[in-house]
Amino acid sequence: MSKLLIAGRWVAGDHSEVLTDCYSGQPYGEMGVASARQVDEAVGAAAQAARRIRLSPDERYRILMRAADLMQARKEKLLDTLVSETGFPRGDGENEVRRCVQTLQLSAEEARRLVGDIVPMEATPGLKNRMGYTVLVPRGVVCAITPYNSPLNVVAHKVAPALAGGNVVVLKPSELTPLSAVALCQILIDAGLPPECISLLHGPGAAIGRALLDDNRIQFYTFTGSTRVGREIQQAAGLRGTQLELGSIASTIVLADADQALAVGKIVAAGFRKAGQVCTSVQRVLIQRPIYEAFLEKLVEATRKVPYGDPRQPETVVGPMITVQQAERAEQWLAEAVRGGARVLVGGKRERAVFAPTILADAPPDARVVCEEVFAPIIVAIPVDTVEQAYERANDTPYGLAAGLFTRDLSVAMQAGVNLQFGGVHINETSSSRVDVMPFGGVKDSGFGREGPRYAVREMMEERLVTIAF
Ligand code: NAD
Repeated sequence: MSKLLIAGRWVAGDHSEVLTDCYSGQPYGEMGVASARQVDEAVGAAAQAARRIRLSPDERYRILMRAADLMQARKEKLLDTLVSETGFPRGDGENEVRRCVQTLQLSAEEARRLVGDIVPMEATPGLKNRMGYTVLVPRGVVCAITPYNSPLNVVAHKVAPALAGGNVVVLKPSELTPLSAVALCQILIDAGLPPECISLLHGPGAAIGRALLDDNRIQFYTFTGSTRVGREIQQAAGLRGTQLELGSIASTIVLADADQALAVGKIVAAGFRKAGQVCTSVQRVLIQRPIYEAFLEKLVEATRKVPYGDPRQPETVVGPMITVQQAERAEQWLAEAVRGGARVLVGGKRERAVFAPTILADAPPDARVVCEEVFAPIIVAIPVDTVEQAYERANDTPYGLAAGLFTRDLSVAMQAGVNLQFGGVHINETSSSRVDVMPFGGVKDSGFGREGPRYAVREMMEERLVTIAF
């Protein structure tokens, strides 16, 4: 049973819901769902802890480092949980754990690097005997609301920098993946975090998530999820701080001079990883006309070889999607594109929640697989004539999270960083290239603020100015 963590104690929820395995559809556990009273109690206790508990930067460093070690030691158990909750095959699960360990370590290191600034007050004409400096202070209570598609590492990208900055956290993970969050909280407590410094609430977003938004005892919201919910959070947060990592339609461009073998391998891996349920997943691949047919052939060939199905089979690379309903939605979007003239070059089949890795060509520009976030293992191939046209096609979505570009031309590579309107532009990598040390976040409807412990920890702290006259 997945319990709630309130005021330093694990407690049962108001009622419970059955959790079902993504692949088999069989029940594997239960989730305790919080009541409105428990939400209020958790935030109240967190606010009290934020006033009462002061951990030194070195204590925070040690706790987060120990948590990284414990996470590594508990890897096998965590992998079991991930397979049931998310349907990730072992490779995706191992990646999630490995990156979570990194994120905890990077956050620990930031705790020891928190320094303010010296302000040269006396450089002002006529000003004497004044000095100024800034100090970084915790914001207080940070509320983290997280999605289902990265139930350890995205949670760590919120929780670990918040704790590194000396904040107290209230965590509301996706109701589809509550058990990974339970494991992470227990690891932090076992690593020495005072349990009052983190609360965990489970339940549906519209009830439990929503209830957290109107509580002014929370000073900062760090959210990853859909743009729709991100807007709601921003509206409710008002003048309080937010960091919003939202939706995306990511493109990767392959120019005629690209290393095609490199591009094929990376695009297939990035487009189908976690069954395409990654915010930076390659949804559109924009291929320059002279190589369009030949490149597509290679892409289809490589996709055909991707083993998919049961995530517990060691050879499986692409497992099920998060629910049968999501896979059905992808199927409907595909059928709609096909009715509009699209050709399925490989894949296109669904069995329960498993959607075969799919490459689509000739999709109409207004089909949902092209112009809405597909979040499924579907890559749409689009021919482009020039580099400028490729930029135009990549930029013509409401989103701006990440883009990739394969080319051997150094000047094109240099200009791409300016011309592609995304939070991250990756040359000779796909849109989905990420290591946890990076500043990571979007522009436009993909949100604002940056993950990456070095950047996030500062967003979750206040820089306060102190001046002294003497
Ligand atoms: P979602 O927006 O449906 O849910 C995310 C979280 O918000 C969940 O915990 C949910 O319970 C909660 N929530 C839902 N309604 C709420 C409300 N009214 N008030 C407060 N909380 C509420 O997203 P999802 O389906 O879990 O995840 C998929 C989405 O996440 C995709 O759009 C994807 O692009 C995005 N995502 C973005 C990034 C990024 O870094 N930009 C990373 C991963 C996922």
